[in-house]
Amino acid sequence: MAVLTIDLKKLEHNARLICERAQSRGVSVYGVTKVMAGLSEVAFAFKRAGVEAIADSRLENIAAMRKAGVPGPFVLLRLPSVSRAAEVVSLADVSLNSELCTLLALNRAAGELGVTHRVVVMVDVGDLREGVWPKDLLPMLIGSLKLRNIEVIGIGTNLACYGGVIPDENNMALLRELAVAAEACLGRKLVASGGNSSSLAWLFSDQFPVGINNLRIGEGIILGRETVDRQPLPGAYLDACTLTAEIIELKLKPSVPIGTIGQDAFGAVPSFVDRGLRQRAILSLGRQDTVPAGLTPLLPGAEVIGASSDHLLLDVTAAPSVRVGDWVSFIPGYGALLAAATSPYVRKVVG
Ligand SMILES: *Cc1c(COP(=O)(O)O)cnc(C)c1O
Repeated sequence: MAVLTIDLKKLEHNARLICERAQSRGVSVYGVTKVMAGLSEVAFAFKRAGVEAIADSRLENIAAMRKAGVPGPFVLLRLPSVSRAAEVVSLADVSLNSELCTLLALNRAAGELGVTHRVVVMVDVGDLREGVWPKDLLPMLIGSLKLRNIEVIGIGTNLACYGGVIPDENNMALLRELAVAAEACLGRKLVASGGNSSSLAWLFSDQFPVGINNLRIGEGIILGRETVDRQPLPGAYLDACTLTAEIIELKLKPSVPIGTIGQDAFGAVPSFVDRGLRQRAILSLGRQDTVPAGLTPLLPGAEVIGASSDHLLLDVTAAPSVRVGDWVSFIPGYGALLAAATSPYVRKVVG
């Protein structure tokens, strides 16, 4: 069975590095646990490092973290479903929202529970995932004023997810202007949540925009890098999470299959470059466990050449010391980590 190893000391170090940097810029950090399937040990490490809140996209993850005794507050990242309004207000202290009709449902549910539910209103400044258009922000805020059990605590935006739009002077200036207008409209100080790990290069430069006072960070802490160019953050560990699997076959085979080539297991017609005979290892790791293309082998000379549901093919011609039964480790990219963390086939070892 493949093993995902999570080094909590390294995660805590990365989280502290980012929190301290953010603090020096007047920015609070929500630690995002969704890529780790809301593993409570990870959330505890984030809290020890000084994140202001734990943020996750799934109510199930928040429920599990609460049950494990993780200190909140908890932020729900994915826009709430109206059908789950009661769960949202009982599990999440804050949710991100972009629909007034959803706020009505949350208000009703919060009233029934006797709580005030806090809300960050998301604005779309160009990435075209969630958020109201800028011109619709104030009408939404005015609409929210009638909701006695809803408190808007801030506005936010999400970038570099669907459209790959990076945070820049224009979209951050727009968010800042909107925050000023929103504060005037509501008559109080608000959170201005500028984005995710795509803002980290900026945070670590000297030009972080004044007026942005919160970031929601997952990948930056967990993989130790920003997400515009996926450059390492200075001083961060890049190997806090590793994925390991066992070699189950090791043979010298040609690099081009023998016979007529049709579709592979996933409906693609593969093509091959003839590199002669190669030493190839098969690992007990496949698409049911991870995203094979997102794996970087830690074994020098090894190269991922393909994968099916349960088998990963590794060219180990340049790593001649390996044997059947050896374990090979990889640094997972974001997609590979997300798949491994959520796969029931992958054992999680937290230490
Ligand atoms: C996933 C998510 C984040 C965190 O993104 P990272 O790139 O992992 O830092 C922040 N905000 C929202 C709304 C998200 O869905």
